[in-house]
Amino acid sequence: MAFVSGRRLAQLLGIVALGALATGCTTTKPATDAKGAKLSYAAEPGESGTSSFFSSHNFSGLAGRSVTVNSIADLKLGYHEVVLTFDDGPMPGRTENVLKVLDNAGVKATFMMVGQMARSYPAIVREVAARGHTIGTHTQSHANLAHLSAAAAEAQIDGGIKSVSAALVPSMHGVAPFFRFPYLASTAALRRQLAARGIVVIDADIDSKDYFQSTPDQVRKRTMARIAQRGSGIILMHDIHPRTAQMLPALLADLKAKGYKVVRLVPGHGSRELVSSLTTSTVTTSTQTAFGYGR
Ligand SMILES: [Zn+2]
Repeated sequence: MAFVSGRRLAQLLGIVALGALATGCTTTKPATDAKGAKLSYAAEPGESGTSSFFSSHNFSGLAGRSVTVNSIADLKLGYHEVVLTFDDGPMPGRTENVLKVLDNAGVKATFMMVGQMARSYPAIVREVAARGHTIGTHTQSHANLAHLSAAAAEAQIDGGIKSVSAALVPSMHGVAPFFRFPYLASTAALRRQLAARGIVVIDADIDSKDYFQSTPDQVRKRTMARIAQRGSGIILMHDIHPRTAQMLPALLADLKAKGYKVVRLVPGHGSRELVSSLTTSTVTTSTQTAFGYGR
């Protein structure tokens, strides 16, 4: 890889990242449905078409409080509070649609980005931040960390943070020290390491399963049913799938109608200090002690 230009590398990474995601690199499960059938993520018809929905809906009051998160303990939600999270992006033509829906509803989300995707599409990373959303990370190439050595897992985590940080450098924004395990495949040892480094693991309470080949309405109904069962929680979605932006206006309308509030997660003061130390001193380095965390 040392012999290709940066632009070419970005192209290659883009292909690798998109290829990996297209073959089932979702946060939670491999690309099979409940019956084990292979799923595909080909573009679906009618990817846009969410804007007309908003003319007949009033989303005032849907936006809830902001929660400052320094540790997992701060992620406690009250009754009828939900957090919106979107994993695996950014992806051109997909992430923007999600942003549009969120803007129209006046709510903020947390995007857990993959490093390779951020390297390939840095302008979208900055756009997400510019619109006031929180950006965490999701490894460099969406590896299953439970299957890797400790060193390789750490390289995946650090690579993701470095890549997303690098995309944000030209902006005033920073990456939050929020992390989600790909496939939700965590280990106790990695959780301990992340906590020691001041990185907060964002788990998921409600899996929309928007990576299944469902219709947007099926995704919405499934998600609302799980929210109703729990009464609150962190909702896992993926901005790389067209059906997610398609169902999101109706999901938000359902939440509003049932009295839910969308809580915004923001990094705490200590986290900001940590992130600023990352972006200034280590983004341009390739050492494995990136970000000055120590080992
Ligand atoms: Zn994922």
